[in-house]
Amino acid sequence: MSSSQYTRLLMGNWKMNGSLASNQTLLAGLLEGLEQQPTNHQLVVFAPYVFLAQLQSLLTGSAIQWGAQDLSAHEQGAYTGEVSAAMVSEFGCQWVLVGHSERRQHFAESDALIAAKVAQALHHGLRPVLCVGETQAEYEAQQTEQVLARQLAPVLALGAGQLQGLVIAYEPVWAIGSGRSASPEYAGQVHAFIDAQLQQAGCAGVPVVYGGSVNGDNAGALFAQPRVDGALVGGASLSADEFLRIVAA
Ligand code: PEP
Repeated sequence: MSSSQYTRLLMGNWKMNGSLASNQTLLAGLLEGLEQQPTNHQLVVFAPYVFLAQLQSLLTGSAIQWGAQDLSAHEQGAYTGEVSAAMVSEFGCQWVLVGHSERRQHFAESDALIAAKVAQALHHGLRPVLCVGETQAEYEAQQTEQVLARQLAPVLALGAGQLQGLVIAYEPVWAIGSGRSASPEYAGQVHAFIDAQLQQAGCAGVPVVYGGSVNGDNAGALFAQPRVDGALVGGASLSADEFLRIVAA
C-alpha cells in the first residue's frame, strides 16, 4: 500500500531528554516540515510530564498529538511522585506509553502492574501504547514468543471490549538505543505472532508498531512488512530532520 492510502502511527519517545528551549526548536522544525510536506500518518510525541503544558500550548490545533511516557496505576491519593491519568488528560494528552522496557528494567514494573496501568489509561480515555519485547538473552534463547505471550496475557485478559484504543509497540530490548534494528523479516515475523495473539483475544484491529533503532534509512523496509503499522522512535525522534525522514519513508 502506498503511504497516501495508509495511515501509520509514527511516535517519538523523547525519554528523559529535552528542555523548554530545545523542545520549542524541535517542534517548530517538525511543524514546518509537515507544512511543507503534509502527511496522512499520525504523529505523536511522548514527553516528560513537566513539558506536557508546553506541548499543549505549542501543538493544540496542529497535526501532532502528544502523550506522557508513563502514568500511575492509581486514581489519586497518597502516592508521592506519581502522576495520574486524569492529570495528564488535563494537559491535552490523548496517548500514554505503558511498560516501556526502561520502566520494566530500571523500575521493576511487572506485567500485572503494567496491565493495571493500561486499564487505568483506558478508563480515562487515553490511548495506551503497550510496549513489549524480549531481552538479548531471551532472544538468544529463542524465547521471544514465550516472553511476548507472557507480557500480553494480563492486558488481553482485560477483554477485547475494554481495549478500544490500545496500541502494541513491539520493541526488542536488544534493538533499543543500540543502533542495531531488528531485520525487517524478523520484525515481520514477530508482528505476525503478535497479530495472531490479538486475533485470538478478539482484538484483531489493534495496531502493532515497531520500535528499536528506527531511523530514516531503515524505516521504509520495516514499514514494507505486513502488520508493521508504524514506529515508536527514541533517539531519532530528537531530530526534526531525522523524524521527518521516517515520516517520509
Ligand atoms: C524507544 O525508546 O522506545 C526506542 C525505540 O529507542 P531507539 O529508537 O533510540 O532505539
